[in-house]
Amino acid sequence: MGTVVFIGAGPGAADLITLRGARALARADVVLFDALTDPALRELAPQARWVNVGKRGFSDSTGQDTINALLVKYAREAQIVVRLKGGDPSVFGRLEEELDALADAGIECDVVPGITAALAAAAATRRPLTRRGNGRSVSLTTAMTRSGDMHATRSADTEVFYMAGKQLAALSRRLVEAGWPTGTPVLVVSRAGWPDQLQSDHTVATLPRASLLHAGRPTVVTVGAGARPLRGAASLEISHTHPARVETLNP
Ligand code: SAH
Repeated sequence: MGTVVFIGAGPGAADLITLRGARALARADVVLFDALTDPALRELAPQARWVNVGKRGFSDSTGQDTINALLVKYAREAQIVVRLKGGDPSVFGRLEEELDALADAGIECDVVPGITAALAAAAATRRPLTRRGNGRSVSLTTAMTRSGDMHATRSADTEVFYMAGKQLAALSRRLVEAGWPTGTPVLVVSRAGWPDQLQSDHTVATLPRASLLHAGRPTVVTVGAGARPLRGAASLEISHTHPARVETLNP
């Protein structure tokens, strides 16, 4: 019986994986990977059989039950099965279903953390999620309910919404309903950590304008204290990082 190692691949470029993750990947016999992981990671495990179980949000290509069954099947056949997930496996990664399925089958597992999209977006845009004085709490939130409706909250000084990229206009309305003042700063970052990352600045009221720029790309929306640009606006430094691709919309 093999072991399953869940590894957070980080949100973008292959070198954002942790050293522990890279070392575990190098020992894999089989790798079950998601759509959002960097193909360059294959170089870390050329010996392994790579199986694409890509899911993108709700346009789900391999059902969760199928993934659970594949994990059990390969773990029974192979020595080391790596389950490679975008960002961090414990953040909106369906980790509980997969851990439950493996526990039911009596298969051992390990979880190696990764850099979640909210953290990559904060780093790449130089917008710290916590701020002295007025940014004392951070919430990672999905705005998408099971039925596909949008639901926004105001539960922290900085709230980072995942899986909302397709419905930014609805998110804007829900944020107002949740009590966020319309002038609250909102930062939208898509493909954080990739060479073609895009970012744009808005307010709760003007957020719908971000829809076109980020269409079809994995996107996080940071609302509140952590969305505020730092004094002396960091945009010059950001365009230095990705000279050709960064666009900034003003609110
Ligand atoms: N486990 C992942 C999240 C998976 S859910 C993590 O920790 O990051 C998928 C959602 O994550 C996307 O809808 C998007 O909101 C966000 N996301 C993933 N990668 C991203 C990236 N590179 N840039 C911006 N958002 C990203």
